[in-house]
Amino acid sequence: MNVYDSEQMLARLKPLGYQPSASMEKADLIIVNTCAIREKPVQKVFSFLGRLPHLKHKNPDLIIAVGGCVAQQEGTAILKRMPHVDLVFGTHAIGRLADNVRRIALKKHRIVDIEMSPDIDSINSVAPENYNQNVSRFVTIMRGCDNYCTYCVVPYVRGREISRSPHLIVEEIRSLVNSGVREVVLLGQNVNSYGKKEGTVTFAQLLTQIAAIKDLYRIRFTTSHPADLGDDLIASFQTDAKLCHHIHLPVQSGSDKILKRMNRKYTRASYQKKIDKLRAVCPEIAITSDIIVGFPGETEHDFKETCNLLERVEYDGLFVFKYSDRPNAPASRFSEKVSEGEKQERLAAILALQERYTVKKNRALVGSEEIILVEGFSKQHHDYDHHEAAIQYSGRLSSNKIVNFVMHGDKDTALKHGEGPGLKGKLIRVKIENALAHSLKGAAV
Ligand code: SAH
Ligand code: SF4
Repeated sequence: MNVYDSEQMLARLKPLGYQPSASMEKADLIIVNTCAIREKPVQKVFSFLGRLPHLKHKNPDLIIAVGGCVAQQEGTAILKRMPHVDLVFGTHAIGRLADNVRRIALKKHRIVDIEMSPDIDSINSVAPENYNQNVSRFVTIMRGCDNYCTYCVVPYVRGREISRSPHLIVEEIRSLVNSGVREVVLLGQNVNSYGKKEGTVTFAQLLTQIAAIKDLYRIRFTTSHPADLGDDLIASFQTDAKLCHHIHLPVQSGSDKILKRMNRKYTRASYQKKIDKLRAVCPEIAITSDIIVGFPGETEHDFKETCNLLERVEYDGLFVFKYSDRPNAPASRFSEKVSEGEKQERLAAILALQERYTVKKNRALVGSEEIILVEGFSKQHHDYDHHEAAIQYSGRLSSNKIVNFVMHGDKDTALKHGEGPGLKGKLIRVKIENALAHSLKGAAV
């Protein structure tokens, strides 16, 4: 979401003459786009900001801005703590960014803009540019969240759930496709409730509209909330040829007691039922998840239940987080906090357990031929003396697994590939030859 928001910021600042810069030393404007989901990224923001004053001494006209969720959460406190920061702008102030920057450049006063306006299209309606020529791009389809999981800061820093209009989303993707994009990843905290408040279209219907865009090859989305994952979306994996065979379905915990305390609104059994349905309509579907270890009240028994769920489901991949208290989130006031040491132990144990399944799933692919969407070069090697060359590309399977593969050829073909886009943005067939822990290796067929 922050990647998408940063692109929106860039698009808003272009008319003022700003361009992306490769070096902070040369920049006239530095924007730190922040994340507040856990305590660690918030600490990182402050230590990063703490390293910037010398740049302001070198260039007194430099404008330093802090955006995103930490800006929303901390507001004026950032200006107090960081005297060199000029602008603090929240998650709903991207549409006003250019105006704020202009005002600061003219008058040199400091601004805090953390007003939450519900007008989503005014935030997002700038046509994005494919400035980095990516094959795959994020597209935010909804903002905010109404779920109020007890550990989570999102509803407080990103506000109530709002869905963008389907026609604006389709238009935006069409323009991305015209600039070479072949895959989009649709973003929302709970894509299953897309359009419900607005009464537009359902998420499954939105997928159908997007799938009709010519020259778009693949569609991904994240995140689907397990409680709201409905049969229509499950059926899309069977009926929608462009929808990738991967779902990120964060379970957070395998213990019903903890799920209840988290306010996740599903049980372990109902979650497993949805996994079974997904696998029934799409047997090869890759399933990934998020786990929080050390939620307040999580006993060794609860933790074992999570481990046991992992063994049952056999995820393709997992993101594991140590619980951290967030401001305003109710769980920060819960008792029975788990010690840092225990959290660390549980994190390590669950990562080690998952590694088994990640490797198992990767190994199962060795020897098969798969279609991958090429994202770019990973390495090039020209052996001019032997008039042979091998170019290494990188791409993804429908299941989102990364494959590095070689294309053997003569020197001329290699040079032609090396100078142009080569296979980038193409769907090609690759034979999987080797499975590593977090990626696969293969050769173009
Ligand atoms: N909307 C998505 C999740 C977005 S936040 C969903 O409901 O699945 C991404 C992940 O961060 C969450 O799935 C959770 O695992 C983790 N997370 C959120 N708040 C956290 C906290 N206070 N401590 C640790 N991990 C947290
Ligand atoms: Fe946070 Fe829960 Fe909303 Fe996800 S669904 S963003 S975890 S409140």
